[in-house]
Amino acid sequence: MPELPEVEVVRAGLERHVVGATIAAVDVLHDRPVRRHPAGASGFAAALIDRRIVGARRRGKYLWLPLDDGDAILGHLGMSGQLLVQPTSAPAERHLRVRFALTGTAHGRELRFVDQRMFGGLSVSAGGADLPPEIAHIARDPLDPEFDDAAFVARLRARTSGVKRLLLDQGLISGVGNIYADEALWRARLHGERPGDRLTRRQAVELLGHARDVMNEALAQGGTSFDALYVNVNGESGYFDRSLHAYGREAEPCDRCGTPIRRVAFMNRSSYFCPRCQTVPRSVRTTASRTGSA
Ligand SMILES: [Zn+2]
Repeated sequence: MPELPEVEVVRAGLERHVVGATIAAVDVLHDRPVRRHPAGASGFAAALIDRRIVGARRRGKYLWLPLDDGDAILGHLGMSGQLLVQPTSAPAERHLRVRFALTGTAHGRELRFVDQRMFGGLSVSAGGADLPPEIAHIARDPLDPEFDDAAFVARLRARTSGVKRLLLDQGLISGVGNIYADEALWRARLHGERPGDRLTRRQAVELLGHARDVMNEALAQGGTSFDALYVNVNGESGYFDRSLHAYGREAEPCDRCGTPIRRVAFMNRSSYFCPRCQTVPRSVRTTASRTGSA
């Protein structure tokens, strides 16, 4: 699944390649990616013809392209989505779902939505140029210049849920996926089950700083995509794997203390942590032994 830094790479590429372009034609090859558009595929296309793209923005993992009439194209890459800018003559990708023929600054090119599994999609957000109402409830992410650090720290410390669950709460902070949460917690030496209200202010500030660092490092490593002709996210975060300290490293030695990294089930996924650097909170240990699941 594309993590936030990869979505930001896509956003920056779109900003560079499609802003200023006018949509000359829209071809929906599969209905599923536009399923959230109430008027269906034909209504989706009709709403966009002759509109000019005036920006490329992002909130968490959602992208939107503000249009010159105040509406926006709202998109999510889901598990496997890609947004590509290709020459019109380039052969169709195997999982090409929607194509936008462009004129103006991007004459001779197409914006293409390619998605194998089709959990992602596109819709027209009425009046959504500044911020699509569909995503107004999603919190800003730590790479957003307007993210409010102090407010986040206060809200985190007011909650009783485990801190990993809080890092994944899109109403509190967006864009921190499972991988970045595990890496930030490892760097902060915090166990994910530690309740938010048991963190000191300093621990909460440091955790946020680590989350931001991890995401910025991933963004920097994905930065070569900025210079590629076409905007691409391949749904893999392979370029980042070599710098992971916890995620995906079960039984490998902790880079800090050598203790084998442990993996536990977490919300249908996995959490990876160092049992020595990131000690399980006493309250969680007690609960676990009571239920006999330790
Ligand atoms: Zn360790």
